[in-house]
Order: sequence, then C-alpha cells, then structure tokens
Amino acid sequence: MSPRIVIVGGGLAGLAAAVALTERNLPCLLLESRVRLGGRASSFHDPTTGSEIDNCQHVTLGCCTNFRHFCETTGLASSFRREPALHFIGPSGKVDRFAAGPLPAPLHLLGGFASLSYLSWQEKQALARGLKALARPVSSADEALPFSEWLKQHRQPTNVINRFWFVVLVSALSESLDRISVTHARKVIVDAFLANRDGWYVDIPTVPLEKLYGGPLVEWLTSRGSQIRLQTGVEKFEMAGEIVSGVRLNSGEIIDGDEFLVAVPFHRIRSLLPETLSAQPDLQGIEQLEPAPISSLHLWFDRPITDLPHAVLVDRLCQWVFNRTLLGNTPASTSLAGPPGTDLVEKSFYYQIVISASHQLGGRSKEDIQQEVLKELAEVWPETANAKLLHSRQVTEHRAVFSPVPGIEGLRPAQQSPVANLQLAGDWTRTGWPATMEGAVRSGYLAAENILSRLGKRERVIRPNLKTAFLSRVIYGLPANEPG
Ligand SMILES: Cc1cc2nc3c(=O)[nH]c(=O)nc-3n(C[C@H](O)[C@H](O)[C@H](O)COP(=O)(O)OP(=O)(O)OC[C@H]3O[C@@H](n4cnc5c(N)ncnc54)[C@H](O)[C@@H]3O)c2cc1C
Repeated sequence: MSPRIVIVGGGLAGLAAAVALTERNLPCLLLESRVRLGGRASSFHDPTTGSEIDNCQHVTLGCCTNFRHFCETTGLASSFRREPALHFIGPSGKVDRFAAGPLPAPLHLLGGFASLSYLSWQEKQALARGLKALARPVSSADEALPFSEWLKQHRQPTNVINRFWFVVLVSALSESLDRISVTHARKVIVDAFLANRDGWYVDIPTVPLEKLYGGPLVEWLTSRGSQIRLQTGVEKFEMAGEIVSGVRLNSGEIIDGDEFLVAVPFHRIRSLLPETLSAQPDLQGIEQLEPAPISSLHLWFDRPITDLPHAVLVDRLCQWVFNRTLLGNTPASTSLAGPPGTDLVEKSFYYQIVISASHQLGGRSKEDIQQEVLKELAEVWPETANAKLLHSRQVTEHRAVFSPVPGIEGLRPAQQSPVANLQLAGDWTRTGWPATMEGAVRSGYLAAENILSRLGKRERVIRPNLKTAFLSRVIYGLPANEPG
C-alpha cells in the first residue's frame, strides 16, 4: 500500500516536494490554507482591471537549476521568456545594454561591464578587484562582517557600491548591504556572473503567477493521483509517541498520515509544532530569523512610456521596471472599468516597479511614494509626464524574504526535523540559497529526498549547479563544482 504523505503549505517548497514525489509514483495530499497555490509567488484579483495581477514581479536567473527543472518537469518552462540583454539606466538616463559576448566564462561579460557608462574606468578596475576578492572562499572573520563593511575593507569606491553592488545584491537578496552576509553576496556574484556563461540570464514569466502555480500545476498533480485541498489551514501536528500521527485542521478535522512535510513560512512554523518539538535546540534558530520587505507599484498608463521590456534603474528609488504589457502578462490593451459613474477607459499600458529591501518606505504615504516613482520615470522616459495614469496599486510584502544577515546559515534548520517522519521545507530551511523560488524548490526537493530515503528509495532529486567553466577555475580559483 502506498504511504500516506501529507504536505502542509502550497508555496513553491510544498509544490516542488509534491511534484518530486508524485513523479515517483508517490501521490501526496497537499493542504493549503489560502484560496490559491503559490504562496508568496502568487497573484491577486484586481477588481478595477478585472485581471489577476502578481503580488510582485518574480524573475529567476539562469543559475537557478532546480527551479528550472521544476518548471520543465511540470510544463511551465514555456511560460518564461529569457532576456537576451539587461538594460541598465544610469543617472544620466542613458540605456546601457549588458549582454554576454562570445568569449567563455568568466570573460563572457567583459563587454557588458565595459558598457556600463555610469562607471569610470578607475571604478571598473576597482570593481574587477572587488569581484576577484569576493570569489575567494569566505574566511570566518569575513563571515562575521556585514557586506557593507567588507566593501569598505576592500576599498570599493562609493559609486561602485551604489551603482553596482547595491543594484545587483539588493535586488537579488532583497536586503540592504549592511544586512547581507559575505557568503550570500559571494553566492550571487559567483553563481550569476563568474562561474558559468548562463548564470546571469534573467527569465521572466509571460503570464501572471496564478497561471503558473494555479491551474496547470493543479492539473499536473491531480491527474497523477495527488490531491490538493485549498482553504484548509492546519492548526497543529498530532504526535503519537515519537512520531507525527496526523494534522489537526483549523476546522477540527484530523488527517492521519505516515510521512509529513511542513512547508509554511518561518514565522508560522513554530505554532504548528507540538511544544516538545518546537523547544528542540535544532529549531531554536528559527526564532532569530528576521524578515525583509519588498514593495511593488503597479501602474496603468494611457500610452506606452517605454518600449524596453524591462529596465534596471541605477541610483534611484525605483530598482526594476517591468513592461508587463510587452512581456505578455496582459493583452496589449486592457479594458479598465472605471469606478461607478466614470467613463470606461479603453486602453492601458501596464508597468510594474519593484523596490526590494523597501525598509526606507515605512512611514511614507502611498501618494508620496507614487509621486517620487512617477517623477523618476519621467526623468528616464519623458513620455511619462504626458501620460495619464489610469489606475495604480501598491503592494508591500513586509515578510517577503528572510534577511541574509551574517551568521544566518547557522540559524537555518535542516529539512530532516528531529522527528523522523516530519520534514521541514521552505526557502528559510538550510539550502545555502537565499529566499528565492530556487531556494524554495531546493528545500522541497531535499525534503522529498529524505522521504524517499525513509521509504527505502535512495535517489537524488536535487539538480546540480551549472558547471564551473575551466577559465573561471583558473582565473578565480573557483572549485569545479561550487557547493549548492
Ligand atoms: C514581493 C516578493 C517578491 C519576490 N521576488 C522574487 C523573485 O523575483 N525571484 C525569486 O526567485 N523569488 C522572489 N521572491 C521570493 C519567493 O517568492 C519565495 O522565496 C518563495 O516563493 C517561497 O516559497 P515557500 O514555499 O518557501 O514559502 P511560501 O511561498 O510562503 O509558501 C508557504 C505556504 O504555506 C501556506 N500556509 C501557511 N500556514 C499554513 C497552515 N497553517 N496550513 C496550511 N497552509 C499554510 C501559505 O499560505 C503559503 O501558501 C519574492 C517574494 C516576495 C514576497
């Protein structure tokens, strides 16, 4: 008889575990408290446009091998588009096209770095020195430092800090430089820029997140025998002696099982576990994990303000701009049903602006933030000043990610909990990755591996990193296989 596997939490971690197990003929029961799957990577209904819009634009990088594998397995990969170049816009408004040239890694991006017009040659040389120093293994003394301090110690000029390190790391790790560990900074730089030609590519969904993790994934799982129960919140795990015997739902219903996997956010986990378990030393670190916010502004104009699909704005409040109309999230024109009594607005052009680590927005009014964003957009694309803003939304996810502060890795628990038949998953569990879709999928795959092993099937589910290129090993001394 097939073991009864219960997964709590339908974010990417829970979904990845469900996919890995279902694919191996081990159907699961997945319980999700909300009305939809996807967790922090999901959409919500906007009544004014009548469409599903994402809580925030989610993108992934070429180095995210497990997330890619998850999308390929479930048929979602075709709903992403790979950007052939990144568009960086410096303070002068000039668009710098950052793309890979024909040389092997790590020389493939030389031309891209050279093209950044908002850094002088001396600054680029300082950056090259900084990149080389960061590629070295992190010493324990460095691991204790915030990355801002490391940058000072390595004499990185202010412009290089603000216009390169901030731009890349704050958007990748969603935290400010004084709250990022050297290990996490190194991971982003090595995996994305130094180790392999394909690491830096940005893949953007061409559909709302709901269309990725809602419909098609539900169909994939249920047609293979797994079950999904939405609006089914779990209140507590029930123990029988040393093992988990079941989950008690908020409704009072008890669901029994053999193997359990809990993939809820870090701030929810402890309340679900029995007292004896949440007091275990291995799980004490969870209490010390801290969240960081991400904000997004959704703007619908009556005309296009740029024909770029995306842009990275340097030295500004706005960090990334996504041209959703062009990227294919919504039809080229969306019917906007205005508030009662106003005329129907026929056409709109939809842009998403992302501000990661948006601590500094706390205490400011939505109007004030929107004014600053519109001013910046008009400085970069003057057409914005002529465009009529038809509709806007602002979303701040206060617990978007965990802060990758120095020493964080010691606080993250392994997927195998102190109870044999209970696995932990979620981007916050120990994967070595920051809080990303890749980190979440890795945690789900690792937890699924543990379940398989308990069932006597020793099998690797986790996918390896991209291979480190020969020249990257020679120039930067990187190991052949960077640890996951
Ligand atoms: C605004 C924002 C922007 C981001 N941008 C990016 C990006 O561009 N690229 C990227 O890679 N990552 C990005 N991330 C991070 C990424 O979304 C997360 O790392 C990832 O989705 C986390 O997945 P998870 O499964 O670990 O957790 P979650 O997505 O939080 O899933 C946990 C699930 O558990 C459910 N749950 C909670 N309690 C219970 C309960 N008691 N019973 C049943 N179910 C329960 C929740 O409803 C939720 O669905 C972003 C995150 C945010 C918030």
